[in-house]
Amino acid sequence: MELTVSLYVDWKSYDRLGKVDGVMSDKIDIKSLNLNELNNLLADMGEKAFRAKQIYQWLHIKLVRSFDEMSNISVSLREKLKEQCDLKALKPVQILTSQVDGTKKYLFELSDGNIIESVLMRYHHGNSVCISTQVGCRMGCKFCASTLDGLERNLTPSEMLDEIYAIQTDIGERVSNIVLMGSGEPLDNFQNVMKFMELISDQNGLNISQRNITLSTCGLVPKIYELADRQVQFTLAISLHAYDDNTRKELMPVAKAYSIAEVLKACKYFFEKTGRRLTFEYSLVSGVNDNEAGAVKLGELLKGINCHVNLIPVNPIKERDFKQSDKIAIEKFKNKLEKYGINVTIRREMGRDINGACGQLRKSYKDQIIKEKEGE
Ligand code: SAH
Repeated sequence: MELTVSLYVDWKSYDRLGKVDGVMSDKIDIKSLNLNELNNLLADMGEKAFRAKQIYQWLHIKLVRSFDEMSNISVSLREKLKEQCDLKALKPVQILTSQVDGTKKYLFELSDGNIIESVLMRYHHGNSVCISTQVGCRMGCKFCASTLDGLERNLTPSEMLDEIYAIQTDIGERVSNIVLMGSGEPLDNFQNVMKFMELISDQNGLNISQRNITLSTCGLVPKIYELADRQVQFTLAISLHAYDDNTRKELMPVAKAYSIAEVLKACKYFFEKTGRRLTFEYSLVSGVNDNEAGAVKLGELLKGINCHVNLIPVNPIKERDFKQSDKIAIEKFKNKLEKYGINVTIRREMGRDINGACGQLRKSYKDQIIKEKEGE
């Protein structure tokens, strides 16, 4: 299995943006530019520097969907921008709202027709959005619906921003927290995700603090070291899901590339460099990884690491035969872990009435379209 990151983009040079990664366009993806890059672009067009700031605000604070909404920009400059740049916006094709807790699931169509899924969760402390980072995924985790059809392509920084922008516009309220836990492996789309992090936490944009962002990874070890060396300030969540390598290999092909020991070593390095406490996600699958002896092994592995464990009752998908652990098994697992002084929570199911597992809504929508096409 190929696990190296295939993409390299030199973000210092704005003219290459928009021409990368599946979204083939000769134009510049203007919403993926930071303010410096936008300054350079406008300077090259012979425009005054303050125009860049104005345009940046239209894009990243007022969240416009077209150049023509930029009312303090002259028509001639708007026309020049249209010639050189793409300004794309996600198109919502389906929005489901939970009657139980207000959770909203969004299916968005991208400019090339691909479909992605994002989720809004409403908490007392604010609005949290779960975004996708790729169309599909190539990591192959056995319980996950997002990976069943493999990876289609990486999302661009602007597409990831747009998941937040579209939801904030829809609800008319500020998004305060972000989790990169939708479809895709964020560290398999490293450069674009890093650029997204820069733009979403930019003071000139929505200014969402990195401390309110969590990136979840299946554990691409070299990339964890890279994050540590960059001293990122977001929370890193590791999808561990097993207490030993053999069990992990059964569930996650990535375990064949990196052992649990290697993952945990990288995590300790991450903590040393960033001071950020780690989260370990552990999806409990009945009869596979939910036994008490396993909880003891996990406790031994994690003791001494500054971390928090999030137990997730596996969300069964119809394509696989995985069953959720029962409540008693989950409690026992939690209690055993807590004996090691580890902080453990059981993930509350949000939007139970509209909930497919991660990526399942997109998959059923896609399958339906294919069926309809075949029937034509
Ligand atoms: N690729 C990243 C992020 C995407 S998934 C990662 O692997 O972390 C976000 C979390 O949901 C991961 O911990 C993933 O393993 C878990 N997950 C995916 N499908 C699931 C399911 N059906 N039931 C329970 N957890 C699931």
